[in-house]
Amino acid sequence: MKRKIVVLGSTGSIGTQTMEIISSFPDSFDVIALATYSNVELLLSQVEEFKPEYVAVIKPERAIEFKKMMPVGVRLLTSEEALSELASLSEAELVINALVGAAGLRATLASLNSGKVLALANKESMVAGGPLVLEALKAGGKILPIDSEHSALFQCLIGEKIESIERIYITGSGGPFRGFKWSELKNVGVREALAHPRWNMGPKITVDSATLMNKGLEVIEAHFLFQIPYERIEVVIHPESLVHGLVEFIDGSIKAQIGPTDMKLPIEFALFYPQRFERVVDRLKLSELILHFEPPDFENFPCLRIALEAARQGRSYPVVLNAANEVAVYSFLREEVTFTQIPVIIEKVVENHMPVELTSLETVEDVDLWAREQAQKIVRTGV
Ligand code: MG
Repeated sequence: MKRKIVVLGSTGSIGTQTMEIISSFPDSFDVIALATYSNVELLLSQVEEFKPEYVAVIKPERAIEFKKMMPVGVRLLTSEEALSELASLSEAELVINALVGAAGLRATLASLNSGKVLALANKESMVAGGPLVLEALKAGGKILPIDSEHSALFQCLIGEKIESIERIYITGSGGPFRGFKWSELKNVGVREALAHPRWNMGPKITVDSATLMNKGLEVIEAHFLFQIPYERIEVVIHPESLVHGLVEFIDGSIKAQIGPTDMKLPIEFALFYPQRFERVVDRLKLSELILHFEPPDFENFPCLRIALEAARQGRSYPVVLNAANEVAVYSFLREEVTFTQIPVIIEKVVENHMPVELTSLETVEDVDLWAREQAQKIVRTGV
């Protein structure tokens, strides 16, 4: 029996790797829906290969273009609501949310509210909407994390009890600028920030890895996903990026998940869970491994400190953190601000925020919009 699967964000970095794995196991999955923001050329070739019943193109101009070239029989949806519709399709058995940014939250909630199994790569939806996601899980759905660190922790926690956990460790490579001082970071450009030494990922997350904001977002994601208090979550820099996460138990035992630096492994794990399936990644040669661990540099990478403070303050602070970060990162990618201005922008917005409780999606969206406008104003008027 083929599992009916929906892939949101099928043309991005995680999306294309997901489609590659699905394509390697044609007897296992039936792709019923695909969604992209704007990459209609790639979407068209995916539609020809996987023959979904539904597709969504979010950007209206691109949807019009796609309509002219799409094969007959495909049902095209547009606008932001299309994502929620596809995320909750009654026939869907597995929904992959590989969207980028806070826009993924609506789709996450829609799929969980209809009790789906959700493979989640969109960490921003967990960061911005954590309390709402936990509430939505009560409808009977399940989250399978695709983020490599959270997949590692998930795997370490299989068969374990939450009360046996002493501490969890989220590992990070340290990014392309590990060891850099603030004065050196002032001069780094977009091209250098996008040259990640270990992982091949989309541009937004690659910049987040360079600033270490990615680890901050992942701490928040882990807090909600595994319901672990912040004081028991630690970030550790591990330049080889082979140990993806570790769990220390109250008896002193530590379990780690080790694997090649390849997102296809956590994606495959989520696609087939609770089964394990044949290998799609290279084998690790254990005799060649040398592993290092060191504490993160909070002084020269203030994004991590700002993120952990926002996390501990809770309420709407993580929403503000995430939204201000998105604006700052895209401004950096457009070369409107420098690399070291990213944390300055985020911190200014966080400091100006009057926190509220996150009681609804509307509250999240209002706070998100406020933070984006604040960040944009800082970019416009000078950091
Ligand atoms: Mg990660």
